[in-house]
Amino acid sequence: MGKSPRPTGWLTPILGCFRRLGLARRVQFVPFVEPRASDSPAPVFDLRHLSKTYHIGEVEVRALRDVTLALPQGEFVVLLGPSGSGKSTLLNIMGGLDVPSSGEVLYHGEDLAQADEGTLTAYRRRHVGFVFQFYNLIPSLTALENVQLVTEIATAPMAPEDALRLVDLDARRDHFPAQLSGGEQQRVAIARAIAKQPAVLLCDEPTGALDISTGIVVLEALERVNAELGTTTVVITHNAAIAAMADRVVRLADGRVTSNQPREGARMAARELTW
Ligand code: ADP
Ligand code: MG
Repeated sequence: MGKSPRPTGWLTPILGCFRRLGLARRVQFVPFVEPRASDSPAPVFDLRHLSKTYHIGEVEVRALRDVTLALPQGEFVVLLGPSGSGKSTLLNIMGGLDVPSSGEVLYHGEDLAQADEGTLTAYRRRHVGFVFQFYNLIPSLTALENVQLVTEIATAPMAPEDALRLVDLDARRDHFPAQLSGGEQQRVAIARAIAKQPAVLLCDEPTGALDISTGIVVLEALERVNAELGTTTVVITHNAAIAAMADRVVRLADGRVTSNQPREGARMAARELTW
């Protein structure tokens, strides 16, 4: 990975022209190989000795301390831990939104910790879908248009209608966010995140603002995406009941991984969960 070599000779005026058109980032960074199922058992993420320290004035906050963790392709991972334990910091680093203070963040063998800003932008754009607690939909656009916003700039998107169908919202595609329930808005946010067909889907407290029955419908949507698209999915929650639907449960406390357990036996279906 690293910086692209400086273009020389006949390529220079062509790239200069792309830059003037604002397309430089698109042509400059194509650093990652597309993941293939046959690449297993290599992990999607291989995090090694990750630490993250925030400095606020004189105060040091050690958000992550020597986290080492490998996540196999296609898994549905639940990341559990109390508030302040470092879950969001870890997810943001995996998603290229933040960088560690030390350690390696290998994504299919490429170290995101050493990547420049342009490479991280390309990585986020092509490989990662994000879902947050609050849905961040554009109020003046319909459900379909919110999804289209992403598919228009993606390299190999699915049809926006298909993304909405996958989260069981095709009947609501012409509704505006204000005409949708919280759970429906979150499912539009999931459709938007997966419409570009990312290799990984990172979800930070996706059911945190929802009641139990709505939360379960959202989890069913994530379950279906993981099963039908094979998207490696990481879900942060402080709700331990959700662990029952995971392939792997990772627990964090005080910035450290305290346990990392692959499931033995069958996963529970989201609709069977109770809390
Ligand atoms: P969680 O998601 O498990 O609640 P976070 O990863 O958000 O935990 O936070 C871990 C610790 O790092 C907390 O003590 C939090 O206050 C601190 N922290 C997180 N982000 C920042 C930041 N941008 N600046 C300073 N401190 C931060
Ligand atoms: Mg958090």
